[in-house]
Amino acid sequence: MMIHRPSKTVAFRLTLWYAGVFSISSMVVFLLFYLLVSKTILNRIDQDLEDKLSLFSAVVSRKGMAGAKHQAIMEAQAAGEKMVFFRLLYPTGEVFASSSMGYWRNVDADQEAIQQVLSGREKIYKTLRINSRKERVRILYGRVSENVILQTGLAMKTYAGFVQSFKAVFSAAMAFIVLFSGVTGWLMSRKALSGVEKVTATARRITGTSLSERVPETGTRDELDLLAATFNRMLDRIESLVINIRRMNDNIAHDLKSPVARIRGGAEIALVQEDTVDEYRKMAESTIEESDRLLEMINTMLLISKAESGEAGFSFETFDFSGMVEEACELFEPLAEDTGIEFSFHITAPVMVHGDRGMLQRAFSNLLDNAFKYISPPGSVSVELTVKEGNLVETAVADTGRGIEEKDKEKIFERFYRADPSRSATGTGLGLSLVKTVVDGHGGSIHVESFKGRGSIFVLRLPYRNVRVI
Ligand code: ADP
Repeated sequence: MMIHRPSKTVAFRLTLWYAGVFSISSMVVFLLFYLLVSKTILNRIDQDLEDKLSLFSAVVSRKGMAGAKHQAIMEAQAAGEKMVFFRLLYPTGEVFASSSMGYWRNVDADQEAIQQVLSGREKIYKTLRINSRKERVRILYGRVSENVILQTGLAMKTYAGFVQSFKAVFSAAMAFIVLFSGVTGWLMSRKALSGVEKVTATARRITGTSLSERVPETGTRDELDLLAATFNRMLDRIESLVINIRRMNDNIAHDLKSPVARIRGGAEIALVQEDTVDEYRKMAESTIEESDRLLEMINTMLLISKAESGEAGFSFETFDFSGMVEEACELFEPLAEDTGIEFSFHITAPVMVHGDRGMLQRAFSNLLDNAFKYISPPGSVSVELTVKEGNLVETAVADTGRGIEEKDKEKIFERFYRADPSRSATGTGLGLSLVKTVVDGHGGSIHVESFKGRGSIFVLRLPYRNVRVI
């Protein structure tokens, strides 16, 4: 499915997160910086005002009121009358001297602050905004002598200058940060997600016929590389399954075709030969034989798919497994005698297994059947049942027959697979496949050890206290 809305993409959301977190943290840093610097500037201004207060205290005590009055005018002129002002007040609030107040006419003496100073508080600070000029002034009220209160104010020009520059720098920097973090976030998330896109692109290219496509693996072993690797392994598996299904279909078609062709051939011959009932009888016999083979094949296929459907395909019960093996072996004794093959079986202990008796008997008989089938007398077949550690019962069927080539060891458990020389012997290639399906369904395992020309051992392991109780 195509993604149409960019706002829905992970890349977009990651970018948003990245830009958001980056911008907010930058804003916090700016804010802290602002608070720190503005506090320092304010402290400087307050310190300047306090220095003035100390100066006036000294002047009043040395030169009296007249000296203080003179000092106020001198100081204001020296610093600039728009920078600083001084007002000397009586405790009643009445002004008895001041520097030039033309610029500061909107600033009144705050009666409340005067009262606070009189009631003992040494210094009272106020910050006023002179609305008409959008300018701020820091004011200090303090007592310079018993009868004199000083109100002095300092224009907060440095402060205003800082705030103004800060605003300019802040807006420029924030614009840059938002842009930068947006672009970086976008590039980073695109890069991070490019691996996912490769997987998506490959998945899109895959159709029924092009299962061989793979995502390039970088080998960095990061999450995306692991995703690519997992995806590729999944494709490997699907590809091999598809190949298997195709091969199985070919095999089914081939194995069904031959008996049908033979039946048809036989019937045709019987028709063209104007012979006797005997010919027809022969044809009927071979038709029955071929049909039986076909039926057996179809029945085994049905049995395998039933068993493959899991426990639903089995009817579990707890039964005497060793007894069942013994019975099956006994059924093969006449065959051994007829063919002159030495046959022995050895069962060490009685074992109860929870499983499908019929299915397990059929699986075990298939192993025995193969042992007798792929051997040329004289030879020997032996069965050994032993109880192993870990609640496992092991049944080994060994023969001294033709053996199995290394390359066929895995394949013989596939449906319809018959190793080359076996094609001459009767069989469907389904026997071992049934064994494997049944054993898997019981939580067991089957494997083969074999040496070409010297024989094979099929080892079937089953848990004898099967936990799959239904
Ligand atoms: P079938 O016996 O009908 O051919 P199976 O599925 O039982 O099918 O066996 C698959 C193939 O495995 C056989 O065709 C044969 O080549 C090989 N095989 C099985 N059992 C033995 C054995 N005991 N010795 C040698 N080859 C064997």
